[in-house]
Amino acid sequence: MREIPLSVPNLNIGIAQNLRECVETGWVSTGGRFIEEFERKVAAYAGVPDAVGCQSGTAGLHTALRILGVEPGDEVLVPTLTFIAAVNPVRYQYADPVFMDCGDDLCLDPGKLEQFCAEVCCVRDGALVNGATGKVVKAVVAVHVLGNLADMDRIMGIAGRYNLKVLEDATEALGCFWEDGRYAGRHAGTVGDFGVFSFNANKIITTGGGGMVVSRDAEGLARARYLTTTAKDDGLFFAHDDIGYNYRMLNLQAALGVSQIDELPAFIETKKRNFALYRGLLEGAEGIRVMPFAEGIRSNHWFYSLLVDDAPGTEPGARRDALMRALIGRGVQCRPVWKLVHTQKPYAAFSAYGIEKAPWYEKHVLNVPCSTNLSEEDVRYVCGLIRELASGI
Ligand SMILES: *Cc1c(COP(=O)(O)O)cnc(C)c1O
Repeated sequence: MREIPLSVPNLNIGIAQNLRECVETGWVSTGGRFIEEFERKVAAYAGVPDAVGCQSGTAGLHTALRILGVEPGDEVLVPTLTFIAAVNPVRYQYADPVFMDCGDDLCLDPGKLEQFCAEVCCVRDGALVNGATGKVVKAVVAVHVLGNLADMDRIMGIAGRYNLKVLEDATEALGCFWEDGRYAGRHAGTVGDFGVFSFNANKIITTGGGGMVVSRDAEGLARARYLTTTAKDDGLFFAHDDIGYNYRMLNLQAALGVSQIDELPAFIETKKRNFALYRGLLEGAEGIRVMPFAEGIRSNHWFYSLLVDDAPGTEPGARRDALMRALIGRGVQCRPVWKLVHTQKPYAAFSAYGIEKAPWYEKHVLNVPCSTNLSEEDVRYVCGLIRELASGI
């Protein structure tokens, strides 16, 4: 049976030359020339002065929250419709997440964020305090979901008024930037206090596993570099003035990164072309809509989402699930959007505010193959199957 994976790396064999250099020189760990080169390339691409490589996006998010001063007992506002790794670092700091709803772009709903700050919280001695729990709300994590961009214009305005730190989870959004509005020309991750990219295997470029922290705050980035290298103050005598982490990017990872980032513009072109094909080929397919990417942004078109409408008289989401299983049965890998984080076992006891839209999207979104090595013929095959199977369920 023909198998079409959901999202797999697109690695040019030329990359092996860089890995060979790591092996031959012995520079396989947290030092070596590729790390700095990759940091410089990512910073230049995103239009910021500097970037700090780390071993995963999750490690980068954790480091950023720590630097932003998120401490045990604080609260952090997070979206519920996201990959759980956007939220886990809040708990690594023993802070409490407060879950927020999404809008129709699947990103954090800024209207509800504002409502929460204005109606549930009050400002006391310059800090935002949650009236329901008495805890200080320190920060908001804005996740750029599946290739869309959260409304940073409004989120930054709210954060400024209510004294919130802003962490952009740009792990899915390398290559996205704003074309309109206050942040026109700025890349995902470069607007908030910190932004984090990921190079996990299913992201738009990959280093196997890896992440990068960006910020316009040079001091903050220096601190990120320090904390991710075990807070080493003296490399000879092993003096450590703080408790750091073993989070630094490996030269092996960066050896892949320096090559992958050169391919990013071409990958985005392929993603856009295949997305346009999906839209054209699925037009008019019964009860299937291809979710558009937001207006006013240059999206990287990372993940393609279909909305699968319910059949009359069936449970919400039943038709989506049936189509998904049928496609998987025919060798086309696809999956639902994430189970909402506020309903996950470790998070069931934390508070959630005004969650109305996310549960609908949880049941109706279907992510379909979007790898950059998909051919036009592959997309035609997948769309043909979707049409065939969707008409029978
Ligand atoms: C991939 C991803 C992460 C984590 O990145 P890793 O590099 O896999 O640790 C965090 N948040 C979101 C939204 C992601 O998609």
